[in-house]
Amino acid sequence: MFDSLQDRLGSILNGLTGRGALSDKDVAAALREVRRALLEADVALEVVRDFTDRVRAKAVGAEILKSIKPGQMVVKIVHDELIATLGETQVPIDLNAPSPVVVMMVGLQGSGKTTTSGKIAKRLTEKQRKKVLMASLDTRRPAAQEQLKVLGEQTGVATLPIIAGQGPVEIAIRAEQAARLGGYDVVILDTAGRTHIDEPLMAEMAEIKARAKPHEILLVADSLTGQDAVNLARSFDERVGITGIVLTRVDGDGRGGAALSMRAVTGKPIKLIGTGEKMDALEDFHPARIADRILG
Ligand code: GDP
Repeated sequence: MFDSLQDRLGSILNGLTGRGALSDKDVAAALREVRRALLEADVALEVVRDFTDRVRAKAVGAEILKSIKPGQMVVKIVHDELIATLGETQVPIDLNAPSPVVVMMVGLQGSGKTTTSGKIAKRLTEKQRKKVLMASLDTRRPAAQEQLKVLGEQTGVATLPIIAGQGPVEIAIRAEQAARLGGYDVVILDTAGRTHIDEPLMAEMAEIKARAKPHEILLVADSLTGQDAVNLARSFDERVGITGIVLTRVDGDGRGGAALSMRAVTGKPIKLIGTGEKMDALEDFHPARIADRILG
């Protein structure tokens, strides 16, 4: 196994105790290790570059204190910068709007959109006592609407009755009307994905957004997306305008790089993480846990 980043920084810097301040050269050696750890965690290159620039600005010239080892000093700078990038506080789903509040789920096919829709609906129903209606706008995959219906039955959450032949925008409008008439607090719109980002997908999302006026637009992304995470988050944010991110399959990812990449390029909070296939495998996002994983 590799030494953790903390250990590596310690072995590079701790010999400097008793000198005045961290020099360019000391910091450059430390930053090579930071860079390596971030790339091992699959943080996107451009994000790594900006991140190490910020750490450099804080570390070069920092006074070496007697009370704390230089390695620990730099570990603290890296840790604080990781937290600042990931977001200091936990940001919940925002339901602060007139009912029914529309929550639109977007993302690539297979990212976990439908599963996450079910998980969020279950959580809002059970923990926040909300009356939730789910609707699948995925008219491309024949089984998609049925899949959401089954999840609704499993979790005890209502789903919009399926009417064959309707397009995504029609379904979204029908869902909103049904929710209004039925006294629902929240409508979750599970949109269609594609295997990769393309213009028709973005155009469809933009149209649904314009008509359904969602209060929250959550990008669902697989945490194993790696270097593509930046492209994915940037494309959806620029074209559709997301309000938050849900990272899925965090149970299978020991590294946490996608979280840092997506948050850094969009500035949008990671609101929740998916940690398994089961309907209760949904957790709040804690920046410190990802920071600790990267520091090792
Ligand atoms: P969609 O195409 O984006 O709607 O993706 P689905 O919701 O159908 O999910 C695709 C697969 O990923 C399914 O087999 C899910 O059970 C699985 N999945 C979704 N979220 C998670 C998660 O957080 N962890 C794990 N291990 N599997 C997940």
